[in-house]
Amino acid sequence: SERTLVLVKPDGVARGLVGEVIARIERKGLKLAALELRTADRATAEQHYAEHDGKSFYGDLVDFITGGPLVALVVEGVRAVPAFRQLAGGTDPVEKATPGTIRGDFGTEVQYNLVHGSDSAESAEREIKIWFPNL
Ligand code: ATP
Repeated sequence: SERTLVLVKPDGVARGLVGEVIARIERKGLKLAALELRTADRATAEQHYAEHDGKSFYGDLVDFITGGPLVALVVEGVRAVPAFRQLAGGTDPVEKATPGTIRGDFGTEVQYNLVHGSDSAESAEREIKIWFPNL
């Protein structure tokens, strides 16, 4: 069993999709290990997205992710990292994510792609420390 860090990003919260995302996680057979609604400060967002520092969209991305409340979750289960990536769908909600995925069903824009999921077990442990330092 492994853990992954999931965010329902501010667009997902604003659109009332928190329950929808959690329902899909639970139906997949994954378990919630932590859950918090909060507005991220810049330091947290910059740590989370450190790998994108310097890219053209980095400033917009940090503004967006700190721009309203989000829901951070730790999700646990067998192959939790790839399992949630499968539920989320590809980064671009139209060009990459297929219908049946969270992004494919609900998104249209790359920046406003509703959810984040860690891309490896190592990233997950790094990100869990950022969002849930006491876990
Ligand atoms: P996440 O890390 O959020 O799960 P991802 O791993 O699918 O997404 P990354 O390539 O790591 O995608 O990009 C991180 C986030 O940055 C994306 O989810 C998206 O919100 C934003 N992003 C990525 N590429 C672009 C772009 N070209 N223009 C605007 N925003 C982008």
